[in-house]
Amino acid sequence: MAATPGGTTPVPPNARPRLTVLSGPSGVGKSTVVAHMRKEHPDVWLSVSATTRKPRPGEQHGVHYFFVTDEEMDKLIANGELLEWAEFAGNRYGTPRAAVIERLENGAPVLLEIDLQGARQVRSSMSEAQLVFLAPPSWDELVRRLTGRGTEPPEVIERRLDAARTELAAEPEFDRTLVNTSVEGVARELLALMDVV
Ligand code: ADP
Ligand code: 5GP
Repeated sequence: MAATPGGTTPVPPNARPRLTVLSGPSGVGKSTVVAHMRKEHPDVWLSVSATTRKPRPGEQHGVHYFFVTDEEMDKLIANGELLEWAEFAGNRYGTPRAAVIERLENGAPVLLEIDLQGARQVRSSMSEAQLVFLAPPSWDELVRRLTGRGTEPPEVIERRLDAARTELAAEPEFDRTLVNTSVEGVARELLALMDVV
């Protein structure tokens, strides 16, 4: 499909959404929902991001993230290899462009799990993307989940909760909101929105 002068891609009427962006505050359950979806439907393709964050226990290079140094991230950005990137709570994260574009050119569905700043960049560069916001049932539950995960020290949790306030306020920018009350329920809804079931 040819790009328009503005850099966005024209969308045929009634086209199936091929690019889905899932965003929401840290700790809301994005990874849990996506893991559940992919357990049931291993064919759901999720872009693997590059990050300068250190791996959490159990996280594997090339599976959960491409864990890169600051210098490697500088190069990815400078070489235009990222579709979008952002700094989030002290680390940089970005979506490798080539794999996503290849899938989309083959008409295959693509899922990105990225932060609000990244979602905004995708919205402006790829207007056909559908943006889905994953919301917590309540603020207190978000704090419980983020703290209960036990993967970040208190000062990092504070930074992530600060970011969460901004992210929650941006919910109206998204096409759809799903409230993560039940992992199974949200996974089902997301699969339906991606048109893979
Ligand atoms: P995110 O990827 O959005 O940062 P995670 O998927 O790591 O969030 O989830 C954060 C914590 O919340 C995890 O401990 C996870 O088990 C828990 N969690 C996720 N979804 C739910 C849910 N629907 N109900 C209760 N706990 C949940
Ligand atoms: P975490 O460190 O908890 O894995 O991720 C922190 C935040 O970074 C989450 O909101 C997650 O969605 C976001 N994130 C992960 N990968 C990317 C990416 O490639 N680009 C952007 N913009 N955000 C990302």
